[in-house]
Amino acid sequence: MPEENKHDLAAADRKLLIQAAHSARIDIERCTCSDPKWPFRLAGKSGVRGHWNPLINDGDALRLAVVMGRMERLGVAIHIVEPFDGDTGPYTYVDAERFGEQTMYHQDDPFGATRRAIVEAAAEIGRRS
Ligand SMILES: [Zn+2]
Repeated sequence: MPEENKHDLAAADRKLLIQAAHSARIDIERCTCSDPKWPFRLAGKSGVRGHWNPLINDGDALRLAVVMGRMERLGVAIHIVEPFDGDTGPYTYVDAERFGEQTMYHQDDPFGATRRAIVEAAAEIGRRS
């Protein structure tokens, strides 16, 4: 992948994380350590324990899903699907009630796809509310 596209992807993911945090009312700030995997930390926290990135961290993704589900009686359902007819590969979809569904195919990373579906759903809620 050309260097320029890599930066575009990172910028898109950073925007996604900002939208997700905003919709779940999770207060984040830029991290000063400049590790590209961890652009943000929870506001007021320091060190690696303050890092926040639900795209790469299972715990951050789970907490984001729970917070989303509890907000304004929204309700969030996470479906991990292994299709039996073989038409598609396994996938995860996150159903955020009136905000619709976000589907991610697992490819070779079911956990990464599930985290991304959660973050996409959270960001979508932020964009629509
Ligand atoms: Zn950091």
